[in-house]
Amino acid sequence: EAARKLFMGEVDFLKGVVAMDGLPPDDRAEVCFAGRSNVGKSSLINALTGRKALARASNTPGRTQEINFFTLGEERYLVDLPGYGFANAPVAVVDKWQRLLKQYLSGRATLRRAFVLVDFRHGIKKVDEEILTLLDKSAVPFQVVMTKQDKVKAVDQEKVLEQVRTALSRHPAAYPEIVTTSSEKGDGIATLRAIIAGLT
Ligand code: GDP
Repeated sequence: EAARKLFMGEVDFLKGVVAMDGLPPDDRAEVCFAGRSNVGKSSLINALTGRKALARASNTPGRTQEINFFTLGEERYLVDLPGYGFANAPVAVVDKWQRLLKQYLSGRATLRRAFVLVDFRHGIKKVDEEILTLLDKSAVPFQVVMTKQDKVKAVDQEKVLEQVRTALSRHPAAYPEIVTTSSEKGDGIATLRAIIAGLT
């Protein structure tokens, strides 16, 4: 209930950041969301916050370098990292973005946890592995959140989860617990809210 209140209360867009000197002061606990483009990240953030268009579906390579900060109450930031894995993003854009991402992940003392979103239909892909390795190197604890659970039959889910568990066992910064969600049906949303509310 406290978690629901937190998310239904004050959630506001603060700013989009394109360089390290644009980061807001690190004066509060922070969680970030990462995932391949189209994984369902905007839908998940909107479901968590109960707002329809807080996180815009920014499915264009041009907007990929922006790190979006939202305030969650007065004591937390929720950070939306740009989607990765665009098939046709220009190399220069990808390079610039990766540099910023590395700087952010390795230099943000108040970053409590990264949530890495993984499409339930696909499991962990090569591009996901890259970000998991970066999180290991940056010593940022991360947790996998499966998205679009409603798109995979119950009988097929365990096989995907097994693939994900196996992949996670190779990453020292990974939490073994996997959160399964459907933004469409609302499954797992309360669980994820409670996890975030518990990080101080
Ligand atoms: P983003 O690029 O990661 O921000 O992805 P979006 O949130 O824009 O979602 C990509 C597509 O997946 C959209 O067509 C969404 O409607 C769809 N989608 C996202 N989450 C779910 C879900 O939980 N269930 C279903 N069935 N579709 C979803």
